[in-house]
Formats: sequence, structure tokens, C-alpha cells
Amino acid sequence: MSVDRDKVLLSVPGLTETASRQVLVFDADDTLWENNILFERVIEDFLDWLAHPTLDRVEIRAILDDIERANTVAHGYGSRVFLRSLGDCLSRLRERPATTAEQREIEELAVALVEGQIELIPGVADTLTELGRRHDLWLLTKGAVQEQQRKLDASGLADHFTSVHIVAEKDAQVYRQLVVEHELVPEATWMIGNSPKSDILPARRAGLNAVFIPHQHTWVLEYDELDPADERVLHLTAFAELRDHF
Ligand SMILES: [Mg+2]
Repeated sequence: MSVDRDKVLLSVPGLTETASRQVLVFDADDTLWENNILFERVIEDFLDWLAHPTLDRVEIRAILDDIERANTVAHGYGSRVFLRSLGDCLSRLRERPATTAEQREIEELAVALVEGQIELIPGVADTLTELGRRHDLWLLTKGAVQEQQRKLDASGLADHFTSVHIVAEKDAQVYRQLVVEHELVPEATWMIGNSPKSDILPARRAGLNAVFIPHQHTWVLEYDELDPADERVLHLTAFAELRDHF
């Protein structure tokens, strides 16, 4: 039986769509493996270590969020920038630069984050194995190149992906560039991730479809509003559900 390819590709996700091979582009952090929870644990330890005499944890957290927001714009993402933000936060609270000894103590808080093992999100490995038989799987992650590559290597997932892209920021321009450089068909390409700001909205602006799989520990800087009426965003609750749609 022949399949009307254009019709299938433009339809709402469903069983008929499995007939066409598509490009599935995966986010990595908090989509394939745990990430933000590791940062959260370091922040909890940092707050304990600070033991601030007057400000409570929520107040200090608000200061740290502001510092992180500014530092990601100026310096990008990853654990080095995060450590810088913790140092900047200490320095703002103490109204003096962090000492070398304090910087070293902050770095010690983050050893597990910088060198730790990767914890896959449930269902990821099996689901990728199955999806890879029917579709082309790509990876698109933002951050420091070496750090993201280390995590991918440690994850054991690298062989699933035919194309891996580590970028400084995931904005609409980056998605448009991917489409042009690799001659992707936007209607047959899906960005899959946990971040409205980095995965769903910019991919949609570039004309791609998207799959939103929220993660309860998503970083506050990744939040944004999604349009519930956008039919080209598929909302799922667990990674393994991808098997029912692709
Ligand atoms: Mg993510």
C-alpha cells in the first residue's frame, strides 16, 4: 500500500506517521540523563556551607539565580560557569572577592558534578534502540564542548546518534542553521526535549515539530510559556512514550 508522504508528514502525530522515516533531534541534559538535580545538590551544599547569618535560603537562591542568568549570557553554560556563579554569589554576600581557599572549597563541593557518572533517565536506552530502527536520531545539546562530550561518552548512548551537535546556545538561529546546512525537511524533523526555552520554542520558530517531555527538576532559567493550541508540539510525560508516536 502506498503512503501519501506529504499528507502523513503534515498530520497530527499518530500511528500512520510511523510509515515515514523522520529525523528525531534529542536534547541531552534532563532529557536523556539527569543533570539539573546534580547542580541542585551542589547548591544545597553551598547554602549549608555559607551558613549565612541573616539571609534565608530562598533569598540567597534568588541572588544566585540572578548571577547565573547574567553569567550564562556572558560566559555560556556548564560547570565552569556554574562554579564562577557560586564564587560571585559568595563575593556579593561577603562584599569582597572570594579567597583562593574559598574558591577551592567551592570547587570541592562540585567534584561529583564535574567528574561524576551519568544517570540515564528511565527508558532512554531501550527507547533509543527501538526508535533508531525506524528513524535518524540526532543529538543537539548546549554547553561547554568537552563537558558535553564527556557526558555523552560516559552515557553509553553515543552510538545511537548519527549526528551530534554541541552548541553554545540553542536559539532559533541555531535550529534554522541546522535545517539549511543539513537540508532537513522541517515538517519531518522533531526536536525532543525538556526545555520550553531551549528546545521547544526556538525549534518551532525554525519550523520544526517538537516533543515536550517535562522534567520535574528543570532549571528555572529554562522555563517559558508554551502555546497549548500549537498542534505541532506533542506533549508526553515519559521518554518511553516516544515509541507510541514514532
Ligand atoms: Mg535539557
